[in-house]
Amino acid sequence: PDRVPAVIAAVHTGLFIDGRWGPATSGATFGVSDPATGDLLTDVADGGVDDARRALECAGAHQAAWAATSPRMRSEILYRAYELLVERADDVAAVMTAEMGKPLAEARGEVAYGAEFFRWFAEEAVRIGGDHIITGDGAGRIVVSKQPVGPCILVTPWNFPLAMGTRKIGPAIAAGCTMVFKPAELTPLTALMLAGILAEAGLPDGVLNVVTTSDPGAVVGEWMSSPIARKVSFTGSTEVGKTLLGQAAGTVMRTSMELGGNAPFIVCADADIDRAVDGLIVAKMRNMGQACTAANRIFVHRAVIEEFTARLTARMDALVMGPGSATGTQVGPLVEAKAVDKVSALVEDALDRGARVVTGGTRPPGPGNFYPPTVLTDVHPESALMQTEIFGPVAALIPFGSDDPGDPDGDGIDEVLAAANDTPWGLVGYVYTQDIDRADRFSDGLQVGMVGINTGLVSNPAAPFGGVKESGLGREGGRVGIEEFLNVKYVARPIR
Ligand code: ADP
Repeated sequence: PDRVPAVIAAVHTGLFIDGRWGPATSGATFGVSDPATGDLLTDVADGGVDDARRALECAGAHQAAWAATSPRMRSEILYRAYELLVERADDVAAVMTAEMGKPLAEARGEVAYGAEFFRWFAEEAVRIGGDHIITGDGAGRIVVSKQPVGPCILVTPWNFPLAMGTRKIGPAIAAGCTMVFKPAELTPLTALMLAGILAEAGLPDGVLNVVTTSDPGAVVGEWMSSPIARKVSFTGSTEVGKTLLGQAAGTVMRTSMELGGNAPFIVCADADIDRAVDGLIVAKMRNMGQACTAANRIFVHRAVIEEFTARLTARMDALVMGPGSATGTQVGPLVEAKAVDKVSALVEDALDRGARVVTGGTRPPGPGNFYPPTVLTDVHPESALMQTEIFGPVAALIPFGSDDPGDPDGDGIDEVLAAANDTPWGLVGYVYTQDIDRADRFSDGLQVGMVGINTGLVSNPAAPFGGVKESGLGREGGRVGIEEFLNVKYVARPIR
């Protein structure tokens, strides 16, 4: 911990445009603070509309030359950046914990996970394929190829300050796109470190341009209205995603949207309860519940809910809460004071509607944005937290099914599927069952982009991450991740 101020002092805190670090045109800065203490860590450049324009013009100017580079060169830059991230994992994790709050062990985990996107897309850069077709009448040849979409706008949230960046920057580099990147105003330092690492890895000037700002609407709005940008890739709230989709219509820009979730976590009567509790601790408590993939509505079969609640509560009570930088911390602070207010209000609303607190539920005294691991049971379906992302360490349990062994519909599968799908979101669903047919019914029936069967973690660079309904458009990672940054072009040639 003593080294952290020195590591933060070494981070470039300017705008990164055309390979150079510099202040905002206005000279303005904004502060970045530590959610565990409220202390100011440092100030970073507060970019405005002029800076935004300059950054996008730079990305536009470098697009053609960057697209013409060899896939192998782009692959090697990504691989080198992967190695540098792994080498510097301790420093990057320390900065991430300082500005975002997550426990150091989780921050290290995110550096490993985030770096893997660079390794994955280093491997994909040299595998951009196409197609060759002879027309049905035998008279023509169709050659299908892929080209970079062009300059991209990347906008990321604060909850995974590194991985949400690498998951977009990796495929953009691999595909041959230049970019403007706006990290979240709560966590710009991790993103600025990442930009420095990419420059060190040999990324040519002007390919990645970073604008930090306290006015995201103005900076991103400037980019969205420019004909230079051809693609926007956004991760954040559904509300902002809808605004960007509206703006993208203006220039018919391609879009990738990773928006909110409202994940059901379903524990069937035949589940292995120990595994289900382990899975829920991951799906609920990773990042203090501040993940779009977080288990939000926990449906537990009546036959096992008592046992499940008791074992879950014991695990939640054993978690150590404290500053993310302190040894042994498993639950850090929430990202800002507002977040604690929101979680408290959701818990109060659930209690007003008849839920019971099994553990937690009261804010501790003292500094920092802390909220304790909380278990609520008998949560009423009309509670606000059923239709709102909690984004905090609150496990809301809802019973389903029948514990009468004579009831033909006692497994409650149709009932719980209908309840799970009763939301405008559709990112991920988790199911615990040992019955393969039942697992298939949930996998087929859940209206989501991702399903975890007997696991509480679905994020992986090799997997296509993304949602349906209001959870978003497009996929990140996996074999399809690079396609989001490529346009298909075909050439017709007669056969003579
Ligand atoms: P979260 O709830 O995760 O903070 P937001 O959608 O508010 O979600 O933030 C995600 C990202 O979107 C951040 O980088 C934020 O600065 C940016 N953002 C917020 N408002 C706007 C806006 N009006 N236009 C573009 N980007 C925005």
